[in-house]
Amino acid sequence: MGTKEMTLHRGHLFIISAPSGAGKTTLSRAIRKRFTDMLYSVSYTTRSPRKGEKDGVDYHFISKEAFKKDIETDRWSEWAEVHGNYYGTSAEFIEKGLSSGRDILLDIDVQGTIQILKRHPDSVTVFVLPPSMDTLRQRLEMRGTESKTVLNRRLENAKKEMAHKNLYRHVIVNDQLLSAIEELISIIERYRL
Ligand code: 5GP
Repeated sequence: MGTKEMTLHRGHLFIISAPSGAGKTTLSRAIRKRFTDMLYSVSYTTRSPRKGEKDGVDYHFISKEAFKKDIETDRWSEWAEVHGNYYGTSAEFIEKGLSSGRDILLDIDVQGTIQILKRHPDSVTVFVLPPSMDTLRQRLEMRGTESKTVLNRRLENAKKEMAHKNLYRHVIVNDQLLSAIEELISIIERYRL
């Protein structure tokens, strides 16, 4: 089949949201490993890198000044202020990816999802819940990367985010990691078929 005869379809946009500590990073890594042809949107953030995080891989780490300038020039297809830092998704990355037919995975918060849904109402949205608030607290404490104040702020924020879970098409509970991964894979496969 020549290139001209190929139907150019737009890719699917998959969005995963979860309060921090619910295991979203682990889940989204598993998804990227399973669907290697899917693009992953690396977010931009003004927060400092955590131990082991790499610039350009986990996030693009940029200054607050640069981020704010980019709000003015419409560089972000969505952005949010979370826990006192800015986070954003590159509009160019999303547009280029989808129009070339690639599926994209986004790992963003509730505020960002609401904005993306305005531009891309067909997005497949998944909310990951922790089994309980106690488990969430324990997971955050075990991670040990945040001070007590930051940890409490994250827990407060988690409660607020969880109140919006009904905005999402799919909700999964990350009780057993392996079954949560399986569930997520089967949701994604349904749309990719
Ligand atoms: P963390 O600092 O723990 O990596 O992320 C904190 C929160 O920011 C998480 O809820 C995460 O989903 C959200 N986040 C990460 N990247 C983006 C982004 O590009 N846009 C939005 N709106 N939220 C993001």
